[in-house]
Amino acid sequence: MALIVQKYGGSSVGTVERIERVAEKVSQWVRNGNELVVVLSAMMGETDRLLGLAREIVPRMGGRELDVLLSTGEQVSIALLCMALEKRACPAISFTGGQVRILTDSSYNKARILDIDGIRIRRNLAADRVVVVAGFQGVDERGNITTLGRGGSDTTAVALATALDADECQIYTDVDGVYTTDPRIEPEARRLSRITFEEMLEMASLGSKVLQIRAVELAGKYNVPLRVLSSFEEGEGTLISFEEEDVEKALISGIAYTRDEAQLTVAGVPDRPGVAYHILGPISEANIEVDMIVQNVGADGKTTDFTFTVHRNDFSRGLEILKSNSTILRAREVGGDRKIAKISLVGVGMRSHAGIASKMFRILSEEGINIRMISTSEIKISVVIEEKYLELGVRALHDAFDLGQTSAAAREAEDARS
Ligand code: ASP
Ligand code: MG
Repeated sequence: MALIVQKYGGSSVGTVERIERVAEKVSQWVRNGNELVVVLSAMMGETDRLLGLAREIVPRMGGRELDVLLSTGEQVSIALLCMALEKRACPAISFTGGQVRILTDSSYNKARILDIDGIRIRRNLAADRVVVVAGFQGVDERGNITTLGRGGSDTTAVALATALDADECQIYTDVDGVYTTDPRIEPEARRLSRITFEEMLEMASLGSKVLQIRAVELAGKYNVPLRVLSSFEEGEGTLISFEEEDVEKALISGIAYTRDEAQLTVAGVPDRPGVAYHILGPISEANIEVDMIVQNVGADGKTTDFTFTVHRNDFSRGLEILKSNSTILRAREVGGDRKIAKISLVGVGMRSHAGIASKMFRILSEEGINIRMISTSEIKISVVIEEKYLELGVRALHDAFDLGQTSAAAREAEDARS
């Protein structure tokens, strides 16, 4: 018998009919002899609807009353699921975050979970009930309702799985797993059967929005195996764990990309100690986050060019700051480009294989794609290119690194023969 925590997102409980389908699935898991804790999101669109109501009254509404309001969405879906389970003769009981004491700090709208008292949940599991818990919410020490930030139900599920020492935490969503890259760009993209926490964090922070990043971090910290699966189709989904052995033999696991960044450049600055500090100091004072940085010294050895990337929303402000400083910096030129994209290869296989970066650069050059910036970590190589080459670059790399369905099938066939 296994203890499983399952989380169903807003689209999975988007209508009464879909809630009935979730009940069908859950009762099947119970019939197969498992103990189930189910965490739900609000019905699709509900949190946005509630937020809209609040903002009709106060445009920038936040704070305590917003959490009292937003937490109602999940209360609706948990009650409906329990009704649907009872109808199937599957005993179930629903709890709000406060009722099972999901204790958080008091930062309304973005609270952090401090502790979970699993006693009430365990008692109900022992009485053969499915325990259905409202995601995304908790209470602070004084009993005030709090919420965990958008997408927070993923975090609730992982936190419960940790507190209850569950065998697996399953996140049901509208995609059937984590893919080698975005299937909208590369139709050959393939679902990964396994991926490590580290890789998932890189993929998630680079814009593969399958899971809330905080939930992945939490699962990694407490070593809770996480599985992403579709609530609409059968399948094994993608298992996220520490295991590296079974992670497919491929050198890289996936290709992530983002169009969220923009490039800023300060050219021809006299090269002396403090250049980086004088350029980036005012940027960070303005609370603008910098991602990649490249500095190179000009051929004369006297001036330097300094290029970095920021979020696209910060581009104009960043450019203004640089322009207002350009006289002090004695820069020859200040400029930038909004139309860039970042492509990253991600894979723990990189640790043990040299030559991946040079292969990446060769593939891009064969496509005539110019690389503007490069950054690497142990399990990731990122390049910045012109945005118009994004699709071409992703497809060429996906193909060259054999990530597609066809090459995976070929590899399997070969393994079977040998
Ligand atoms: N209902 C909340 C939201 O829409 C939490 C969640 O779905 O995870 O952000
Ligand atoms: Mg979600």
